[in-house]
Amino acid sequence: MSDTSENSPADGSSKTRCWALIPCAGSGSRAGLDSPKQYQTLAGKPMVLHTLAAFDAVSRLTGILVVVASGDAFFSSRMTTWQVADCGGTTRAQSVAQGLEYLLQQGASGNDWVLVHDAARCLITPAQINHLIEACETDSVGGLLAHPLADTLKCALDGRVASTLARNDKWLAQTPQMFRIDLLRRALAQAGAQVTDESSAIESMGLQPLLVNGSAQNFKVTYPEDFALAHALLEARSAGIPGKGATT
Ligand code: C5P
Repeated sequence: MSDTSENSPADGSSKTRCWALIPCAGSGSRAGLDSPKQYQTLAGKPMVLHTLAAFDAVSRLTGILVVVASGDAFFSSRMTTWQVADCGGTTRAQSVAQGLEYLLQQGASGNDWVLVHDAARCLITPAQINHLIEACETDSVGGLLAHPLADTLKCALDGRVASTLARNDKWLAQTPQMFRIDLLRRALAQAGAQVTDESSAIESMGLQPLLVNGSAQNFKVTYPEDFALAHALLEARSAGIPGKGATT
């Protein structure tokens, strides 16, 4: 961490500090791979390094913490500007909760903001991260990047359609999700280890996080076919192909 003094932003301003916490301790079982998906090479480098490059370009962040599984040596031989903690848990929520404790031990304050972002959303851009920070830092709850649902949503029962849900009020939750460290810590402790995002934990406290427009390109690389799409988009961005690189 570059700055461990309580309540003193690294840029000397009076703004509350913002940290990034990247849960990176998943096994990637849905991707059908032998090794964690976040370390698969896409467009010339491991997926998580694309993710971290976007966060590195956000000057408003005081520090970036990557939470890996116990015994994970991926970062040990690399020069990094990030903190790496091998305190990952058996669920994403546990990895985030343990990462929050680590941040506090390193000098973060409970009142600081934390942006939690999936290592496997490697198409996030600095502009989208800045957009979330600007939208949330004056909000009393915090919020998340999300994308309005384009498709019609079906409920399934035994492989057949049981019902159709109205889509006009549905959003796909993405990350980063930005909340105050102490509020998120309490929310995760109350919601339990199975919640799949920070917003659900905050919602279980009766609060309503802010929905901030993200991008369809900020998808989580999950299934085998997602890798080719992410690779193509990253290649197009590095080649500067107009219309293919999401800069916003
Ligand atoms: O499994 P899923 O795709 O929901 O994982 C989202 C993110 O959470 C990934 O970056 C993954 O590495 C991370 N994760 C974690 N600890 C776990 C499970 C997932 O840090 N136990």
